[in-house]
Amino acid sequence: MNSTEKFRNYINGQWQNSISGKEYDVFNPADKNQLLGSIPFCSKKDADLAIDAASSSLHEWSNITAPERGEILFEVLRIMDSRKLDLAETITLEEGKVLSDSEAEVKRAMNIIQFSAGEGRRLLGNTSQSENENNVSYTMRKPLGVVGIITPWNFPLAIPAWKIAPALICGNTVIFKPAFSTPLSAIKLVEIFEEAGLPPGVINLVTGSGSEIGQSLVEDNRVQGISFTGSTEIGTKIYSDGASKLKKIQCEMGGKNAVIVLKDADIEKAAKDVVIGAFGSTGQRCTATSRVIIEQEIYEEFIEKMLIFTKELKTGNGIDPDIDIGPLSSLDQLEKVTEYIGLGVEQGGKILIGGHRLEGEIFDDGFYVEPTIFVDVDKENIVAKEEIFGPVLISFKVADLSEALDITNDVDFGLSSSIYTKDIKQAYKYINNVDTGMVHVNSPTLGGEVHLPFGGLKSSGVGHREQGEEGFNFFSELISVYIDHS
Ligand code: NAP
Ligand code: MG
Repeated sequence: MNSTEKFRNYINGQWQNSISGKEYDVFNPADKNQLLGSIPFCSKKDADLAIDAASSSLHEWSNITAPERGEILFEVLRIMDSRKLDLAETITLEEGKVLSDSEAEVKRAMNIIQFSAGEGRRLLGNTSQSENENNVSYTMRKPLGVVGIITPWNFPLAIPAWKIAPALICGNTVIFKPAFSTPLSAIKLVEIFEEAGLPPGVINLVTGSGSEIGQSLVEDNRVQGISFTGSTEIGTKIYSDGASKLKKIQCEMGGKNAVIVLKDADIEKAAKDVVIGAFGSTGQRCTATSRVIIEQEIYEEFIEKMLIFTKELKTGNGIDPDIDIGPLSSLDQLEKVTEYIGLGVEQGGKILIGGHRLEGEIFDDGFYVEPTIFVDVDKENIVAKEEIFGPVLISFKVADLSEALDITNDVDFGLSSSIYTKDIKQAYKYINNVDTGMVHVNSPTLGGEVHLPFGGLKSSGVGHREQGEEGFNFFSELISVYIDHS
């Protein structure tokens, strides 16, 4: 059903149009004829207004006690809990992932809000011994100030939540720029913060194009910190532009995550996990499994098992509970993924299953591609090296763990990785030698728990980790205090 609803920005506690009055339409990637609403197409002028509001409200917000700020986040949690299904449906409608994945995303967003709310009663500093008699010294936390939050489309609720909640509990005020194609989850999230009693100006939402609004946030001297998740290309630009302004910057970026399967692994479990890791959420997770590296003794058996599980997957509109794999999130994504598949074949890769855009019936109205497995791929093939960000898995046959580690580490990215083995020695060799920020043993490359740091090495991440205690470290400054009471 089409929705002609007109959505608004949220600046200084007011829902408002863009200053220019320009708008753009958002459609369902499962059915491009379904209009989901129109959204303000903002410019630098709107971003400036939002920065004004965030700057004006900073003093008051940062002086409310942290436990009180925590109470507002607990209220956010209660409201989210009462709207779980609506939030999940919104994610599926605008992003395309299946409803069960959207429900898991809502849960993840709630977990980080709960974790951050509790931090209102901690936000610890240290006391330390002074070298002078009758002196006391300690550290305390202060907020960074006004922070810009720039987020991608693939987790339109959870990623904003895991940045905004720690930012707020530390006493910062926020300008939130969601991805162009997924503003609806962002709007619903901000509505909840408003209803929970966040004072005007503390959170501000500006929708529109990243190159204009995102860039304004990076360039404005009143913004002290930027937390970005998205592509390595844009993250690199934000990091260098922000550094020249001496801003604190955190960038979480792309991945090319590998799973190693050794000959002693539980093959059934490993194959199931690899297929879910590669094709779940249509491969559009930063932690998705993109490569599987198999010890030669079990190669044929493992490939056979993956084929069986892949054939069982049903692709279609993610709102239907029988569907396992939704569409890609946009026409751009469809074009990018099918282009990579073509290049992979051109460069000598062999397709074991899939490889095509799905056509006919409902498929013509959306951006559907078959779950695809490549075999016999040269290590230098483009599909072995670059992030595809779609349901495409590249498999390799290796002689042993050493060769598997070489392949795992021989990419620019270093976000997540996993090994399947029952041999504790091999597992530790792997943990100590793999170059990724998140390491799994006998579990998929996916996700993470909100109380542990999340992020990658090499081109996958720069700056502080997100989530866990590290999240609060990014969004606060440590002040050293010396008191002489002699
Ligand atoms: P993207 O194109 O880099 O965009 C991310 C955000 O940056 C969007 O809000 C975008 O706005 C904005 N932006 C674009 N140009 C900008 C500029 N010049 N200055 C400031 N902001 C700008 O990434 P995406 O395509 O949305 O997301 C997919 C990527 O995210 C993948 O590479 C994936 O691996 C990565 N990702 C990483 C993690 C992680 O934690 N490591 C998690 C999820 C996703 P517009 O939408 O308006 O262009
Ligand atoms: Mg993009």
